[in-house]
Amino acid sequence: MSRKPFIAGNWKMNMTVASGEKLINELKPLVKDANCDVCLCVPAILIPAMKKAAEGSNVEIGAENVHWAEKGAYTGEISADMLKDYGVKYVIIGHSERRQYFGETDETVNKRTHAALNAGLTPIVCVGELLEERESGKTNEVLDRQLKVGLNGIADVTKAVIAYEPVWAIGTGKTATDEQAQETIAYIRKKIGELFCPECAEKIIIQYGGSMNAANCKGLMAQPDIDGGLIGGASLKTDFATIVNYDK
Ligand code: PEP
Repeated sequence: MSRKPFIAGNWKMNMTVASGEKLINELKPLVKDANCDVCLCVPAILIPAMKKAAEGSNVEIGAENVHWAEKGAYTGEISADMLKDYGVKYVIIGHSERRQYFGETDETVNKRTHAALNAGLTPIVCVGELLEERESGKTNEVLDRQLKVGLNGIADVTKAVIAYEPVWAIGTGKTATDEQAQETIAYIRKKIGELFCPECAEKIIIQYGGSMNAANCKGLMAQPDIDGGLIGGASLKTDFATIVNYDK
């Protein structure tokens, strides 16, 4: 079964309307012949302007988070329907920065993932271990918990994307080696097979994220289980186009 590669950017809390528009206008011609799906997940307030800037191109605009409730007294939060109003298709859920700074847990990841799927959005569900967890041999145990709880009760897991992001590799310039990333993503795929079904494991898109850049993307993307990337820092510059065009 062939899986279409998917490269997504995560702007985090960066860019303004002007700098975002400028980058998207630079990227559009550079990525127009991409063989993969392409998305930039941007701060919620920039979504309308970036959606307009990307109009008519193959660049999807995604969000960086979504609340689990349909609506209500959740000051500062954004619902799946609000994202859909602006034509958003993808939303990052459970990024390690949300887990580290904003109290995100596997349970809230699960609730957000259900909300996204119920609204017809594609969640990009982030999982990954801390450095001390890898060093103490707990990587698989951590991933087991994050996948079991985070994806609990999902009817069709293949409608989600998983991003394996070792926390020690995010924003640090320290990338997992091709072998480490392949080995861990193969483990995640096997686990999806056990938790859901073997066909689900074959079909689900699993990205690598963590200091992926123009120089290391080819080696990572050559790995059989790595279907794409979630790109932080390098998505803030035209290097993102080089990653999108990793196969050229
Ligand atoms: C991320 O934020 O998901 C990420 C992978 O960041 P970076 O590429 O900067 O490590």
